[in-house]
Amino acid sequence: MKLYNTLTRKTEEFKPIDPKRVKVYTCGPTVYSYAHIGNFTCYIYWDLLVRTLRANGYNVDRVLNITDVGHLASDADDGEDKMEKGAKREGKTVWEIAEMYMADYLKNFRELNMVEPTHICRATDYIKEDMELVDVLDRKGYLYDTTDGLYYDTSKFATYADFARLDLDNLKAGARVEFSSEKRNPADFAVWKWIRKGEDHAMQWEYKGRMGYPGWHLECATIIHNILGETIDIHCGGIDHIPVHHTNEIAEIEAAYGNRMSNYWLHNNFAMIEGEKISKSLGNVYMFSDLIEKGYTHMDYKMWVLQGHFQSERNFTFEDLAAAKQRLLNYRNFAALRWQSEEQNDFEETKNKILEQLNNNLNSAGAFAELDAIVNNGAPSKKFIEFIDDAFGLGIEESTPDISDELKEKIKERFEAKKNKDYAKADALRDEILQDKIVLLDGSEKTIWQYK
Ligand SMILES: [Zn+2]
Repeated sequence: MKLYNTLTRKTEEFKPIDPKRVKVYTCGPTVYSYAHIGNFTCYIYWDLLVRTLRANGYNVDRVLNITDVGHLASDADDGEDKMEKGAKREGKTVWEIAEMYMADYLKNFRELNMVEPTHICRATDYIKEDMELVDVLDRKGYLYDTTDGLYYDTSKFATYADFARLDLDNLKAGARVEFSSEKRNPADFAVWKWIRKGEDHAMQWEYKGRMGYPGWHLECATIIHNILGETIDIHCGGIDHIPVHHTNEIAEIEAAYGNRMSNYWLHNNFAMIEGEKISKSLGNVYMFSDLIEKGYTHMDYKMWVLQGHFQSERNFTFEDLAAAKQRLLNYRNFAALRWQSEEQNDFEETKNKILEQLNNNLNSAGAFAELDAIVNNGAPSKKFIEFIDDAFGLGIEESTPDISDELKEKIKERFEAKKNKDYAKADALRDEILQDKIVLLDGSEKTIWQYK
């Protein structure tokens, strides 16, 4: 299995530390508003990663975190807290906001038929552990105090610039000093924020005798260290996280505990909508409820996402979504043949080809091309459909039930009536049959039914 590793900027053979427990961490959502469809592209790709690892026989131990504290409007340490902003907007407490949007996120996550992560961790459940990590960093001399919070002195971590290939001299020259004159280096970041006088921040905890809250990068470092332990296999997130969030996670973990944070780093690119960035002002922030209103399902969207690659920028259009919906329907009708044929095929060779494509840095588009090559070559076995479902999670098996015996009988009767040129009877039966939301394809030997 080959993966493109941001750490080395190379496509590499994946070698797990322990094949019985491949440790995967995927940076999760900040639950301060409804997640739009674009937010889910990366989770669909990471679901494909988990499924591909499992198809290779690995056991996957995956952590998904839920950010419910500390994420400020900018990924740096300024701007309003996203959770506080959401609460103010809706006249609710931050805790209510977190509860509400986390539930919505997980509902969509499950509707997308994604493998349930082994652990779903809320940042606010790890405050004590956050403090322990801050203690270690403080003891080792990486932190300094400012009126704004405890900051990490990035000049003390010699390899700070390596992961993102940062040009620190340039960063220094371009830095706006007015933001925090107490910062020693432009890249320094808050590990722990202090509540300032007059500051309205609902989530706060006492640490070193003062009230404060964890910096955003700290939660991922803490959760990884506490749930997955030393060096994990794969860390996933958006490409926007490379220069700040992930760079800072590495600086925290590797300085505190001395172990490499992760052997492989996967970064996803983003989705545009009809050629534009997703933004409220353009009115192109679509939720799943919008897609459903237009007659699409979560699975249609998942199909659209999986036709592309996690490293490519995607461009969502409703035209392409309609095409993805049709492609998924073709696969479902291929699966329906298993109810209508004596002879069924395990397609062992195709299975291998599909796995080969997925093992090539999650090339799902290539994998679907292999599937397309056999959809007109006879009926699949239940086993083959299960393989496809395990690989992609498109829920084909469960969405393609057999039709009733009564209906099958009617289809047969109609075929006979037509053969005997009793068209009145054939048409009457046809009208009855079509009420069951299937379509009929007449062949010379028999009639095939399909879903519509
Ligand atoms: Zn993270």
